[in-house]
Amino acid sequence: MKLLLKDILNMAEARFTREGCLTPRLDAELLFCHMLKKDKSWLFLHYGDELDDKICEEYFRLVDIRAGGMPLQYITGSQEFMGLPFRVNEKVLIPRQDTEILVEKALEILKARKETRGGFRILDLCCGSGAIAVSLAYYLKKAKRKAAVLGSDISSDALEVAKENARINGVDRQIRFVEGDLFGPFPKNRKDRGRKQFDMIVCNPPYIPTGVLPTLMREVREHEPLLALDGGEDGLDFYRRILEEAWRYLVEEGVLLLEIGYDQGITVPLLAEEAGAYGPVEIIKDLAGKDRVAVIKRNENADRSNVKR
Ligand code: GLN
Repeated sequence: MKLLLKDILNMAEARFTREGCLTPRLDAELLFCHMLKKDKSWLFLHYGDELDDKICEEYFRLVDIRAGGMPLQYITGSQEFMGLPFRVNEKVLIPRQDTEILVEKALEILKARKETRGGFRILDLCCGSGAIAVSLAYYLKKAKRKAAVLGSDISSDALEVAKENARINGVDRQIRFVEGDLFGPFPKNRKDRGRKQFDMIVCNPPYIPTGVLPTLMREVREHEPLLALDGGEDGLDFYRRILEEAWRYLVEEGVLLLEIGYDQGITVPLLAEEAGAYGPVEIIKDLAGKDRVAVIKRNENADRSNVKR
């Protein structure tokens, strides 16, 4: 007796539920769609279809991989972000919906400003898959605003993925990518000002405290790149380094947007204050009502104030 499509979807759903998957039905369906390169509306029309043994076999092979803890996005190789398609693999963090808040805020700030003649200059530090850089470039282009986006990451593998994502979304002419550790690739000139001046710096750095990593979901802990998650002993290593340097690379009205962890909405503004080169910090919450983004304006007097040199 042949299995029906709805039967194997139910079997996969039950298996994923047992394994503690948060979206068992959706994953069962998306995995099948991925395998046959069909969309979800096709599924609805074919629930009652009998399936070939070969198709069932191939599907259960994928179900095994997913049930073993591999995130669905690494199996399908894709994740949507800001309504755009992104390629992903295990070298990059899977773009999170929470990060869309950062992109939306960045677009809101930029659209309210007038770009200089060459267009907005934007730096995405730790760009990973390029989700932030690519979506900023895409939506600014769509709004007919000129922008040059620079994405940087310490991982050359991640940059390969980011470049492909820029190509797929038609913004490879708006974005350049450089490999390096935070501001490492950008030399400072004698006056101690960054040679590159940016209107905006955006960054979703690694921010999970090292000791918390083993408590993350199996999917994250075993498959996503630790390099993109580990923020050092207290999770704040990257914020310290970024805040110490970012003002040098920002124009006077420049803005730094940082994604932060749900419990970092107090500490990150304190670190910004300590750095002595920024104005008051605005914290924005994500859809779950948790602190998620810090909007940090460069202090106009940053050059003259007592910041650490
Ligand atoms: N928000 C991510 C998580 O789900 C962490 C991202 C980061 O460290 N930048 O774990």
